[in-house]
Amino acid sequence: MQNKDYYAILGVSREASTEEIKKAYRGLAMKYHPDRNSDNPEAEEKFKQASEAYAVLGNSEKRRIYDTYGVEGLRNGGGFQDFSFFSDSVFSDFEDILGNFFGFGSMFGGSRRRNGPRRGQDLAMELSLTLQEAYNGVEREVTLQREETCPDCKGSGSRPGTQPEVCPQCSGSGQVRRSQGFFSVTTPCRMCGGTGRIIKNPCETCRGSGRIRGEKKLSVHIPPGVDTGNRLRMAGEGEAGHAGGPAGDLYLVLKVEPEAGFSREGNDLIMDVAITFAQAALGDEVKVEAPSGTERVKIPAGAQPGQIVTLRGKGFRNVNGWGRGDLQVVLRVRTPEKLSRDEKKLFQSLRELELANGG
Ligand SMILES: [Zn+2]
Ligand SMILES: [Zn+2]
Repeated sequence: MQNKDYYAILGVSREASTEEIKKAYRGLAMKYHPDRNSDNPEAEEKFKQASEAYAVLGNSEKRRIYDTYGVEGLRNGGGFQDFSFFSDSVFSDFEDILGNFFGFGSMFGGSRRRNGPRRGQDLAMELSLTLQEAYNGVEREVTLQREETCPDCKGSGSRPGTQPEVCPQCSGSGQVRRSQGFFSVTTPCRMCGGTGRIIKNPCETCRGSGRIRGEKKLSVHIPPGVDTGNRLRMAGEGEAGHAGGPAGDLYLVLKVEPEAGFSREGNDLIMDVAITFAQAALGDEVKVEAPSGTERVKIPAGAQPGQIVTLRGKGFRNVNGWGRGDLQVVLRVRTPEKLSRDEKKLFQSLRELELANGG
């Protein structure tokens, strides 16, 4: 993965203050905003890069992770728990900054150009994992229903072989200028609905919308160490955009199915192991089946019910960085419910000894 220099993208020093970063981003965003650079992919790319850089450097926590670990840290680590990297909170930040300059922020789901290019909707989907899958990580295939770009017209909405025509009212700009008092106001063109194009021969497959309901299979890599509530963002895998706008993102919300005898605290895995009176009293070594594999657990002589034996580094991998948690084996001393005749005899002799010793 290339290591992007977000500071270089924004043109600020590594010591730049939050205010300087904000100012630099605002300058770039205004210069390269798609609303001001229609049909200029280079500007769009610059706008995206600047927005990505700002999403990181404008957030003190993400900036700290980026400074320490680079982009990799955000992808594998710091960005993970808080996968809202590019979602609502960041967009509302952008709107705070850009809103005044770009009306209602059409890039961010606003309605300034109702029928112009718009980003597709984000989708969310829950994904259930077993404890073992959460522990080791897993490749999963998910199937989702979503709006996709029409394959027949490639999203143009025009019947294949025909082209949308340039709107005569606005000459393709999608906007008309009107004078209103001292001001001249631009409003979306009514004739073309702000798209700048008029579809004379609508595509039959999508009836001119450029999008169809489709099913998509996606292969998803779940990294080891994830927990319930973690969100995985898959950029561009949400609904297709409108009128050539970018696709939304897909968020996979992870849920780890509970498993009897196991629980989790931070990155520590807690596991119950049943042992007998004799094992607790005399000590023993037992084998247990943990997600990490078969582990040997040393029970100390005189172990108490609930006593914990810690196996260092056998817990969950830290999904936000480096290292692993521990496996904490909780010794559950099991009282026998049924005794064989021999066992009963032995317990009785044991009790007699206790009484003789004043117990
Ligand atoms: Zn179509
Ligand atoms: Zn028009």
